[in-house]
Amino acid sequence: QHSQWHRSASMMFNSEMINYTTEKLALMAELRQAIDEDQLVLFVQPQMAMRNRQVLAAEVLIRWRHPKKGLLAPEAFLALAEEMGVIYPLTLWVLEQAVKTIASLLEQQLVSRIAVNISSKDLLQDELIEALEQLFDTYQVKPQLLMLEVSENALVAEPERTMAMLQRLHRLGVELALDDFGTGFSSLAYLRQLPVQYVKVDCSFISELHKTEAHIAITGAIIDMARNLGLGVIAEGVEGAEVEDKLLRMGCSRGQGFWYSQPFELSGFPAWLRQWQQRHPG
Ligand code: C2E
Ligand code: MG
Ligand code: MG
Ligand code: MG
Repeated sequence: QHSQWHRSASMMFNSEMINYTTEKLALMAELRQAIDEDQLVLFVQPQMAMRNRQVLAAEVLIRWRHPKKGLLAPEAFLALAEEMGVIYPLTLWVLEQAVKTIASLLEQQLVSRIAVNISSKDLLQDELIEALEQLFDTYQVKPQLLMLEVSENALVAEPERTMAMLQRLHRLGVELALDDFGTGFSSLAYLRQLPVQYVKVDCSFISELHKTEAHIAITGAIIDMARNLGLGVIAEGVEGAEVEDKLLRMGCSRGQGFWYSQPFELSGFPAWLRQWQQRHPG
């Protein structure tokens, strides 16, 4: 199942690496080993309708269970994975786990969309469409149950090719969200052209929202803009009741953050969802 990823990982050394520090080379070797030895694990965090605590989706978040350093956050290794050229096979693995999870939820008569973060590099891979079609076919899952999150900043390097890929993904039927919104430079005119259904307001504006006038102003502008464009808004980094309350009063109804749940292991999601739904029936 990991064969494609093994192939890319084993081709990773090239002459540019002469300038790498030994520390970085060591981490690269360890990451290659991590892939071989299944040390990468997937966590998940629910996205809520804040008013009634219904689960709208759950975002998959990768972690590295490092034998010596413990659980590593994606920031510690994803840039390296991109540099090593293993990000696309890694994304395919994440997507397969996500689609499998959707299938297992359906089997248990549970429904939740699953959201996967896609790197800007993945959007330059033409094979992505076919790979997704194959996954939906294999696991008998509707594309609408998968949401792909693309960072606002992913559009900077290759805007035309990236936009073309987003349009193909949209035609395939997957939901699209623009992640980390507010941290990049997307103009309103540009956002209008994107085939996305949601914007996710970056944590940096949300976690201290109630205390910071500038963050209230920015978040308010994003909410108004999204409403005018017919887009949904998801606030990420909701850490407390004051922020939840403020967001609801500002007209944002979807949230994600520690206030509802810390990220936890993806394998536990169906059981978690069943329990949650029992405690929060519609
Ligand atoms: P993101 O997609 O914007 O994910 C949200 C981040 O906010 C996650 O960090 C999450 O754990 C964290 N978070 C959740 N609730 C709260 C909260 O209440 N307060 C605060 N301050 N933070 C909260 P994490 O898991 O470290 O992921 C960081 C980034 O790594 C993600 O940002 C995403 O861009 C990337 N990433 C994660 N998993 C994957 C993956 O499978 N593939 C790719 N390409 N990127 C991934
Ligand atoms: Mg995300
Ligand atoms: Mg984000
Ligand atoms: Mg982020």
